[in-house]
Order: sequence, then C-alpha cells, then structure tokens
Amino acid sequence: MRKPIIAGNWKMYKTFDEATQFLEAVRDQIPTEDKVDAVICAPALYLPTLVGIAADFDLAIGAQNMHYENEGAFTGEISPAQLSSINVDYVILGHSERREYFNETDETVNKKVAAALTAGIVPIICCGETLEERESGKTEQKVSGQIKAALNGFTAEQVEHMVIAYEPIWAIGTGKTATADDANQVCGAIRNVVEQLFNKDCAEKVRIQYGGSVKPENIEELLSKEHIDGALVGGASLQVDSFLALVNKAI
Ligand code: PEP
Repeated sequence: MRKPIIAGNWKMYKTFDEATQFLEAVRDQIPTEDKVDAVICAPALYLPTLVGIAADFDLAIGAQNMHYENEGAFTGEISPAQLSSINVDYVILGHSERREYFNETDETVNKKVAAALTAGIVPIICCGETLEERESGKTEQKVSGQIKAALNGFTAEQVEHMVIAYEPIWAIGTGKTATADDANQVCGAIRNVVEQLFNKDCAEKVRIQYGGSVKPENIEELLSKEHIDGALVGGASLQVDSFLALVNKAI
C-alpha cells in the first residue's frame, strides 16, 4: 500500500511570524509519519527556521522551486545543494504557476528532477492541463507528455521514490475541483505511463497526488479513489485547522 502524502504549498503567503506560529500550532497534532507524510512547502527564506522547528515532530519541509545547477552566477536562485545543506526534504517542481510566469519548461523540470535526486531531495513533479485542453479532449495527451519529459533518463528504482502531482490548471485556486472520478482517471493514466516507461512494480509504488481546490470537505472522496495517494494543497494549507483536517482525513 502507498502511504498518503499531503503537501501544503504556501506559495508567496505568510510573514515570518505567521509561518513559525503555524508550525508551533501543528506541532502536537500532526500524526506520526508511519501513517501519513505531512509536508509544508514554504517560502525559501523561512526554510532553515522551519526545518529547525519541525526537526522534533513528523512534519517535513519542502521548497517550492530550485535551480538545476548546484552553484553559479544565477542571481536570485537557490540550488539543490543549498536546499540539501539545510535538510530540506522535498521540492515542488514544474508547478503550473512557475511554468506560466517563470518560463519553466519540460526540459528544465527534467534537469531539476535529476538535480533533486543527486541532492537527496524528493521531487514533487507537477503536471496538468488547461481548461481549453480539457475541453478539447487533450488532457491525457498533455499530462502524459509532461510526465514522459520529466521522467526521461531515470531508473525505475529512482522513479518509485518520486511524487507526481496531477493538478488541472483550471482547478488551482479557483474553487473548482475535478470530480473524484475524473481526477482518478487522469492519475490512473499517469500510472500507466509510468508502467510503460519503467515497470509495474515502479508504477504501483510511485505516489500520485491530486491538486486543485482540495479542502477538508472533498479530500475523503478524492483519496478513496484507487490512484490518488494524497493531495498538493494551496489555499487550504494556509490555516492550521484545515491543514490538520486534511492530514488527519488522509489516514
Ligand atoms: C496549488 O497551489 O498547487 C494548489 C492546488 O492550490 P489550491 O489548493 O489553492 O487550488
């Protein structure tokens, strides 16, 4: 059985005090990591402090992006080696907001996945279609292409430890959620792609999250589906109560 994974994506929200207070507030209420992996992907400048606070309970800390080079003249960027040097566990790669506003491409996502593995950081690889692509029946084609590109050049043993997040772009931050059946169908298609590229064992082990307006009211139905192993959550990860509810409902 695949262990559920709930990852909060705080995006560019929260002051430093709000971020540290959130962690202190969840400290005694996060379930143990044998039941569920709970992750907060925070703004980069808070990561060292948050890693320190979360060191003695079962909350993992992730970044929302990184460069694919370990060092160099890349003003304003953060490298995999730097994230690893402060014990960051996860990194979101290829989020649709980075693809749309910051020129992230399938090629750079693939390079970043490789760099994350080298640095010992688990990549959460995002894929998803626009509303136009969905309405013209191109969802699986789009998502399969993104996943094939992101996973190009790796072994089954590497891929089985990765996390894939299926996030239909039209459902992110809009309050519109894909139906659980639709989300499951696409997550199943992603698992098939992984099986074709690698093998059945790898496809059965890789964890696939759904993301897009997930909240405590809809997570149980989503997670009841065969191919949905967790959620990547924006808005509902910002409040202590809703984040804890999501994590507890995933068990
Ligand atoms: C996200 O940021 O990846 C996301 C899914 O956001 P929201 O939950 O707010 O739709």
